[in-house]
Amino acid sequence: MTSESKPAHFLQNIIREDLAESRVSQLATRFPPEPNGYLHIGHAKSICLNFGLAQEFDGTCNLRFDDTNPAKEEEEFVGAIKRDVSWLGFEWNGDVRYTSDYFDQLHEWALHLIKEGKAYVCDLSPEEARHYRGTLTEPGRNSPFRDRSVEENLALFERMRNGEFDEGQCSLRAKIDMAAPNINLRDPIIYRIKKMAHHQTGDKWCIYPSYDFAHGQSDALEGITHSICTLEFEDHKPLYDWFIENLPVPARPRQYEFARLNLNYTVVSKRKLKQLVDEGHVDGWDDPRMPTLSGQRRRGVTPAAIRNFCEMIGVTRSDSVVDVGMLEYCIRDDLDKRAPRAMCVLEPLKVTLKNYPAGQREVLSAPGHPVRDDLPARELPFSGTVYIEKEDFREEANKKYKRLVLGKKVRLRNAYVIQAEEVVKDANGEIVEVICSVDLDTLGVDPADGVKPKGVIHWVSADDCVNCEVRLYDRLFDDAAPDAGGKNFLEHVNPDNLTVLTGCKAEKGLAGAEPEQGYQFERQGYFCRDNKYGTADKPVFNRTIGLRDSWAKEQNK
Ligand code: ATP
Ligand code: MG
Repeated sequence: MTSESKPAHFLQNIIREDLAESRVSQLATRFPPEPNGYLHIGHAKSICLNFGLAQEFDGTCNLRFDDTNPAKEEEEFVGAIKRDVSWLGFEWNGDVRYTSDYFDQLHEWALHLIKEGKAYVCDLSPEEARHYRGTLTEPGRNSPFRDRSVEENLALFERMRNGEFDEGQCSLRAKIDMAAPNINLRDPIIYRIKKMAHHQTGDKWCIYPSYDFAHGQSDALEGITHSICTLEFEDHKPLYDWFIENLPVPARPRQYEFARLNLNYTVVSKRKLKQLVDEGHVDGWDDPRMPTLSGQRRRGVTPAAIRNFCEMIGVTRSDSVVDVGMLEYCIRDDLDKRAPRAMCVLEPLKVTLKNYPAGQREVLSAPGHPVRDDLPARELPFSGTVYIEKEDFREEANKKYKRLVLGKKVRLRNAYVIQAEEVVKDANGEIVEVICSVDLDTLGVDPADGVKPKGVIHWVSADDCVNCEVRLYDRLFDDAAPDAGGKNFLEHVNPDNLTVLTGCKAEKGLAGAEPEQGYQFERQGYFCRDNKYGTADKPVFNRTIGLRDSWAKEQNK
């Protein structure tokens, strides 16, 4: 959906006009992933665009697997891509489609071109074909096989299909123009031999159509009106149109290009993401550090955050690099609204409340969310021993340090005011415990002596909490443009992109946390339970994103 405030982008304008002038009666778009990897944040831009336009203009959007290349495609990716599109919140029109569904029709259309004298079987090796193709500045030369008769071409193509030739021995090429300034029109290959089973069609074929030959014709077969792709296909458009004009296709789709999404500190290329997985830099395609949709999902990013981000970056025809901070902003903004609050101590320090009645336990209450009354209040068990963050206590500190200091007071969030009286150190001189007094008359009110504590810190009851592990993620790369200008992106993997804290203590209610349910751990950031690691007794929480200005903001609450 377009937001009211935003001017329409060029594709919205084109579609509005096409509908107004009845050039098309109903918008039909498609999202055409190749099932050779997982979807990433760049794909999200294309998904939100194609599905979003269909929603906005009351049209349809197909999900079509562009599976012309049997070598790299796997069922695993098909399942993952369907899951990711649904998770983003979109519904495709009818059944999932596959380009391979159209192999029979495409084969017939190849025969049609041969019969019209517009395609020929060429025996040039790939190496020779490259020489004949010419360059950007020099025209190509006609293949010596270009003038074969229709009959000969039909017979040879049949033999190709029957597996009588080896891979690379010959190919079927469109007969267009070897002198065309656009290299894509210099007799492009439309069928090549690949003696390989296909995940959809099995052993039926040993010849496969090229992407260029399959794509536009699949669009036509599905009645796609606006075939939207990224700018690198601009030079393929004359070829796209040539096939549509020279084949008896049932519809005349048109191709439109937009700029792909590039993000700093990120790589968005399936090949490179695959390398990160295969070489063990991350722990799978859904590693929470990955820019894949499944990784972001596991990390706790919401589909709404990604959709908002895609809306915010807009759609243009000029290439640019988007600041990953914009994505982070959208993630925070969405989680702030929906995440219930909770407390979790990442690096615990034991605090003993010396005047709290021995053996007593009570249950305090805290709001689920500062402004959303629909989120239920939390029960916070309280007892004579609590944990606070190690960094929230100092023996001495200046006035800027508004946490617990020896001899001073602090408020335990949603609980009492305490005062540090004594420290206990181990043999190495490290503080292992703070003995405090607690003022039991300070629940929701200031101390009677008028001395207001300067700070508020989070805590959990030692007698009633959840042991957990917390994983803090930093950017996957420490270089803003890890793969720019021929740089080896693997050399720019941030060595500190993951910190694992194993001894964390979370408030009791987090025992039942579900993966993908985001929480704001007060003063720490947004977190969600990991869906892969951890046990019922010891869950693992992923930090989705930190809080900006965490400390300053909390002070003002
Ligand atoms: P990659 O470069 O990651 O391998 P791809 O273009 O080969 O991507 P496809 O599966 O063919 O991957 O992509 C499906 C659709 O998503 C295409 O229409 C493609 O243009 C679009 N797409 C891919 N990457 C981006 C991106 N970074 N920004 C916008 N759209 C993208
Ligand atoms: Mg592609």
